[in-house]
Amino acid sequence: MDTMNDKLTIALTKGRILKETLPLLACAGIESLEDINTSRKLVFDTNRPEVQLVVLRGTDVPTYVRFGAADMGVVGKDILMEQGAEGLYEPLDLGIARCRLMTAARVGWQSDGARIRVATKFVNIARNYFAQQGVQADLIKLYGALELAPIMNLADQIVDIVDTGNTLRANGMEPLQEIAAVSSRLVVNKAAMRSRYAAITQIIGDLTAAVQEAQSATP
Ligand code: AMP
Repeated sequence: MDTMNDKLTIALTKGRILKETLPLLACAGIESLEDINTSRKLVFDTNRPEVQLVVLRGTDVPTYVRFGAADMGVVGKDILMEQGAEGLYEPLDLGIARCRLMTAARVGWQSDGARIRVATKFVNIARNYFAQQGVQADLIKLYGALELAPIMNLADQIVDIVDTGNTLRANGMEPLQEIAAVSSRLVVNKAAMRSRYAAITQIIGDLTAAVQEAQSATP
């Protein structure tokens, strides 16, 4: 396997974002030669010999693009908000994997006015949000199953991604406030944008058209 090459590399986020990214890429004329969904490989050649895809955890996509190990990437706005977008351009909202970053608590929970404890994966976002609201919040970093924290009295509130709200309801919780609307974004390494301007702007243009087509098909 030859990955140390001059190919233009696009880092994709695995999971539900990947499933929605592949049709957009196909519409933009970029298709993996192998089925990404069933393969255990991490690097994929495409129908365009100069373009390759790598598949990563979302939290690692900005790192690969920031350091130039990948030229471009697809990643959720929640991760860009949490990590900061230093070294990255964010030229396009892909409009996929839409969800909301919200605060949530057990149904009927009410603040007693003192400090609250908040469990989240998104400690930077939560810190900024509660500071803006003038709420004194002690943050507890967790890596998953956030809904368990209020049940076990680890935290009063959580800050998490909400789509349908079913996960919250199934655990006796309710959404409280929306912090931000989230969708997946195209990011580009700033140096690559200069050194590979023609190739990258072509892909941005093709993806922009693909997004418009997808959005006009589903009103
Ligand atoms: P739901 O039960 O539909 O509200 O989905 C909630 C869970 O699904 C959250 O805890 C997230 O981990 C996950 N989730 C929902 N939408 C997204 C998304 N667009 N990107 C990543 N994770 C998501």
